[in-house]
Amino acid sequence: MLGVEHTVIESVDLETDGRGQEMLVAQVRVKAGAARRCSRCRRRFPGYDTSPTPRRWRGLDLGTTPVYLQATTSRVTCREHGVVVAAVPWARPGSRFTTAFEDTAAWLVCHATLSVVAMLLRVAWRSVADIVTRVVADRAATVDRLAGLRRIGIDEISYRKGQRYLLCVVDHDTGRLVWAGKNRTQETLGRFFDDLGADRAAQLTHVCADGAQWIHDVVAVRAPKAVVCLDAFHVVAWATEALDQVRRTMVNRLRAGGHHDEATALKGSRWALLKNPPNLTGDQRATLAGIAKANGGLYRAYLLKEQLRAIFQAVELTDARALLGGWIAWARRCRLEPFVTLAKTIKNYQKLILNAVEHGLSNARSEATNTHLRLLTRRAYGYHSPEALIAMADLTRGGLCPPLPGRS
Ligand SMILES: [Zn+2]
Repeated sequence: MLGVEHTVIESVDLETDGRGQEMLVAQVRVKAGAARRCSRCRRRFPGYDTSPTPRRWRGLDLGTTPVYLQATTSRVTCREHGVVVAAVPWARPGSRFTTAFEDTAAWLVCHATLSVVAMLLRVAWRSVADIVTRVVADRAATVDRLAGLRRIGIDEISYRKGQRYLLCVVDHDTGRLVWAGKNRTQETLGRFFDDLGADRAAQLTHVCADGAQWIHDVVAVRAPKAVVCLDAFHVVAWATEALDQVRRTMVNRLRAGGHHDEATALKGSRWALLKNPPNLTGDQRATLAGIAKANGGLYRAYLLKEQLRAIFQAVELTDARALLGGWIAWARRCRLEPFVTLAKTIKNYQKLILNAVEHGLSNARSEATNTHLRLLTRRAYGYHSPEALIAMADLTRGGLCPPLPGRS
């Protein structure tokens, strides 16, 4: 019932805390075979001392009653790690929660919103973040997430205003996040390639990235055989941004000319313009039709965005090449400043865009991961450190979600 192993349960009592909340406290001790082990290397050593006051660990509720395990802790003299706290079989080192509680919390984080997790388990959001960090460290030590990589995507994700970035590496074939580090610098990317090792870097066949030159420079040195592609996700994001600029300029112009109603209506059209056509609601379709009739410039910008997206859906490379050439020519003379500028950028990256089409690297799975990571970072207010955010990303997108305890 308590979800513990290698543990002797000496007594179980009901206690009432200061607020009248009843709780179940189980007095436990480590079974002889599991006692006196270093909490870092798990090897057995002579005991050093035992703490005079017992400690408590929060366990999974029994029905509606919170559960605590209580035990005295001891320290051992490890030959490698010195005097350290002895491992207990029911909890991870340094945690105030049992392993069963932490695994349940981590599993829930992968399947429910954080507010649901915090309320259901009666823990503070900060504790959930700490739990996720410990579970991820524990599980990451048992799997090699960089094994067998062939096609990867490298992505910079901003997580706070003021140029704070994470560098994320996604396996293009599984859509899994396999590596993340803070800051978007050559040094960070160098650390990924150090972790990967030269042999495995030589196995990389494709690297997808955004337009950042510094990424391309590092990849050229560390994975010279890989074909570099420009991610569809980023190209479409550039076009979406250009479209939004066109719309904002028009709203401001209408306002300056005293056309306040028209300005407000156009302002409300944002989502109709930015969404992919199959996801549009009936009202949004009507908004678009209205723009097509009344606002030729903005509708042209919309078509330019959609046309660019379509290039990545081309099956034949020759089609994609023709479409891209046509798009650049059109964008250049469309008289919409943001798209004229984008045409220059796209022309520079033409080869890398066509690489993505040729090698079929416009992958929905890795795009879902990109979208998920951006969603995570948008809620980043609660993450007290980039490390906590990385742990959350690893847990939910890195394949490190633990199984629920007690199910096999
Ligand atoms: Zn040790």
